[in-house]
Amino acid sequence: MERKEFWFVVGSQSLYGDKVLRTVEARAKEMAEELSKTLPYPLVYKATIKTNKEVTDVVKEANYSDTCYGFVTWCHTFSPSKMWINGLDILQKPYCHLATQYNKEIPNEEIDMDFMNLNQAAHGDREHGFIATRLRMPRKVIAGYWKHHDIQKRLSDWMKVCIGVQVSKNLRIMRFGDNMREVAVTEGDKVETQIKLGWQVNTWATGDLVKEMNKVADAEINALFAEYTNQYDIASTDLGAIRYQAREEIAMKKMMDMEGCMAFSNTFQDLYGMEQLPGLATQHLMAQGYGYGGEGDWKVSGMTAIMKSMGKNGNGSSAFMEDYTYHLVDGQEYSLGAHMLEVCPSLAADKPRIETHHLGIGMNAKDPARLVFEGKTGKGIVASLVDMGGRMRLIVQEIEAVKPILSMPNLPVARVMWKAMPNLTIGVECWIMAGGAHHTVLSYDVTAEMMRDWARIMEIEFVHIDKNTTPEKLEEELLIKDLVWRLK
Ligand code: MN
Repeated sequence: MERKEFWFVVGSQSLYGDKVLRTVEARAKEMAEELSKTLPYPLVYKATIKTNKEVTDVVKEANYSDTCYGFVTWCHTFSPSKMWINGLDILQKPYCHLATQYNKEIPNEEIDMDFMNLNQAAHGDREHGFIATRLRMPRKVIAGYWKHHDIQKRLSDWMKVCIGVQVSKNLRIMRFGDNMREVAVTEGDKVETQIKLGWQVNTWATGDLVKEMNKVADAEINALFAEYTNQYDIASTDLGAIRYQAREEIAMKKMMDMEGCMAFSNTFQDLYGMEQLPGLATQHLMAQGYGYGGEGDWKVSGMTAIMKSMGKNGNGSSAFMEDYTYHLVDGQEYSLGAHMLEVCPSLAADKPRIETHHLGIGMNAKDPARLVFEGKTGKGIVASLVDMGGRMRLIVQEIEAVKPILSMPNLPVARVMWKAMPNLTIGVECWIMAGGAHHTVLSYDVTAEMMRDWARIMEIEFVHIDKNTTPEKLEEELLIKDLVWRLK
């Protein structure tokens, strides 16, 4: 595994003399080591900055380091910020200003002017913050005592966002077939997306996938079938259909791994030479961290891969989702989310079942096998990336998933039921006004704050719908943002 680390760079100046600088360095090292025990990735102390050249040198090194995923600064003492300009101006890594302080309390007896000169983050961090604001730098500011759980959690989350940034910049998406005919929201400018987000989005022929499928050996299918049996309950007698999905999964995985792709899309309108729309195959690939979007939706596929990488252990509880239908009974207003087949089992409340059912839509010669389950309960978000023409907009809505209130015995797909914020109908009004798609990424472990941070680093527009959003406020916000983003 490639090492992933974050660099801790501390601002100071020569004015204080060697003794103070040695103390600053020792404490910064101690803080980095202590914080690394609770953070998901190591925070590595790199330098105490005293000159323009020192800033520029460490930034250059960070920019070209494959292991450095983000740049964290702090000012134990005062650090005049003109010397930071040339360095910060060329910084290409995600940037977090940790406005903290070594000591928690003001020591009543001990405090004198020496103490004040050593412990002056309160104004050192303000000088440091000004220059980043003056440079219009996108960055995260986290303020608070470094040993507090809340601060550590926010720094942890920001680190996970930086993983998502790195995944985005290296993302390759394999498209089998084009977008579903005539659909608008799943379209987008692939060149602009590559410039902004780094994604390489390209197409491969369905016929080439079928050729690859025909080459899969029985032994490979047996091994994957055994894995399915371990992880899921088999609730179908059509073992041939399940084995066919295994064949599809193995072929798609081989092609993606060969090309370095971590996401893919396909469409039921182009299954030329395939007996089944990949259902179980796609679901099991998503469980392994691959992004997916149905009907050729490569944008939601890319976002699924990225948000999975930002979750627990780099493959969290995030999935391609679609708002399908509503329950509009007073006091029981919910969205029912599902897809034709392809819902990731990372959302499942219990062990998924493999079932086979007829699928009328598309060109399925045989009944496709798929995983069926109910989604977990709990707070989460849904996210949608749309192309506004000239820019990308990321819309994130807070949701609360519930145990589906109906058993829906004849619904042959995995399902999630949730309440959108601030409530179903206002939430839908806001979502539609913002231009949010029917396809989303639903996540239980990536937060709206994380997605806001990600959008800021990628320099794309962010719209947040939460419990306090009103259509009136949102309309105004969208109007202003539209003007601002046209000027950018
Ligand atoms: Mn769909």
